[in-house]
Amino acid sequence: MTESEKSFRTSFGLKGIVQHQLDQSYHSPLIDKIRAAGFLLKTGRLEIHLAKEFGFCYGVERAVEYAYETRARFPDRRIFLTNEIIHNPRVNAELQGMGVKILTDDASRSEITEKDVVIMPAFGVPVEALREFEKKRCVIVDTTCGSVMSVWRRVESYSQDGFTSVIHGKYDHEETRATCSRAVKYLVVKDKAQAEQVCKYIAGDPAGAWQKTPGGKRGTFLEKFKSACSEGFDPDKDLGKIGFANQTTMLSRESIEISEMLREALRARYGEAELQVRFRHFDTICSATQDRQDAIRKLGEKKMNVILVIGGYKSSNTGHLAEIASEFCPAYHVEDASAIVSREKIRHKKTGAQEIVETEGWLQKRGQAPFFTETKKISDPLQIGITAGASTPNRVVEEVIQRLIDISG
Ligand code: SF4
Repeated sequence: MTESEKSFRTSFGLKGIVQHQLDQSYHSPLIDKIRAAGFLLKTGRLEIHLAKEFGFCYGVERAVEYAYETRARFPDRRIFLTNEIIHNPRVNAELQGMGVKILTDDASRSEITEKDVVIMPAFGVPVEALREFEKKRCVIVDTTCGSVMSVWRRVESYSQDGFTSVIHGKYDHEETRATCSRAVKYLVVKDKAQAEQVCKYIAGDPAGAWQKTPGGKRGTFLEKFKSACSEGFDPDKDLGKIGFANQTTMLSRESIEISEMLREALRARYGEAELQVRFRHFDTICSATQDRQDAIRKLGEKKMNVILVIGGYKSSNTGHLAEIASEFCPAYHVEDASAIVSREKIRHKKTGAQEIVETEGWLQKRGQAPFFTETKKISDPLQIGITAGASTPNRVVEEVIQRLIDISG
């Protein structure tokens, strides 16, 4: 195998061989049927309304397909994944079942040799990890999504022009770690509350909390953002020129607001005339995330009784879909069908938090009797809205729908 044959970014042309396996694991004829029927399934008192956009995005489809093709192309080699390929337990478990080993931490990379194959996930890997694999001369299959790479190009151009990348994202998310590694100076803000702190720092905040702490304003800032900024970050110098970008799966409305807050802070500090040379903005939310967020809003506006948001608990984009859905009605982020314990009880991730909790009376309008009591006559249908994150296979969505049908009797 020559050097040029050691790194792959495109299909091996084996789709025909793996397609059956992919269909068996992830495809759902029931979902196809519901889509064809106008995204609606009526059964008994149940009305299941599917969002117009949900489930696997183009980047995930591609990454999963390449991973399967890699197994087919290198049947006798050890194959490693640098991390979960996407944040869905079902997909990762399927790959592990095919003998693909997921590296759990940086130290576990030491076992890789020249004879091995390494798959990089859809959200990419930090530059240092990539260099390490290149040095080992193993085969690299890079499934990084094109939309993630466009964020990398953006922060690289900010760095070249002397701008600090301020990234709306989660600093410990794989995608954001990979993006940060491409920037010379960066700061990650996860929400509007953190952005507000950055804006106050830019403005000087003479009466603010920064001044009242022993470390002074600069020390406090660095303490707050110590895991979320580049080495040697100096807020006095490095917040003077900002290039804004975002993790591709963030809440788009919040990203727009944060960008505006930063622009405004720089305008207030340096004046309108300076803004052009001190602020750059590029919306790097990917179109798949945007489409799913728009679709759940539309579904929410139809006034569902309950919305189920299906996806891995570690999936950032699924969590944001649940946040949007909960603006309209009770919404539950469930990982799979097993989360629907019964008509009375559901296990789910708390919206906007990390905890997994169980909620009783989830199929019940506030202050009313449960929908499925035998004695209660309910003429209204029970309308359940359903969406799924970009890493959720249709098969998992089907299983949730089947579970709903089963418990509704
Ligand atoms: S969510 Fe967006 S960036 Fe992430 S893999 Fe899918 S298409 Fe690519």
